[in-house]
Amino acid sequence: MSKPKNAMTKREAKPFKQMLTVLRARLRGDVSGLADAALNKNPAAGSGSTLSNHMADMGSDQYEQDFSLSLMANEEEVLEQIDAALMRIESGTYGACDECGSKIPKMRLNAIPFTAYCVRCADQIQRGG
Ligand SMILES: [Zn+2]
Repeated sequence: MSKPKNAMTKREAKPFKQMLTVLRARLRGDVSGLADAALNKNPAAGSGSTLSNHMADMGSDQYEQDFSLSLMANEEEVLEQIDAALMRIESGTYGACDECGSKIPKMRLNAIPFTAYCVRCADQIQRGG
């Protein structure tokens, strides 16, 4: 099994992993977990923590707004998608469209970090075809 060439490396995906972890905690109503994830993340990791902090601060307002829309749609489904996205990060396939293999733009991932599809495929799937 080769990895999609458009997928992110784990290092690239790290800020998104952080976002997903925070989102998941929030969806589950785990507010203390949310604080932990935001403040206390992985001290063992060492390098890269500054970037994660920065990304989290920068993205939070905007994606909170976008996310609340998705949240109303279907919490359970979103939770599943978040788990799936975290698994894709672990397996090194995150960032590539699950359908066509295209690179998913980071702008899109900042808004919907758990999406598995590029805009075009997501649109087609939503239309049921
Ligand atoms: Zn696609």
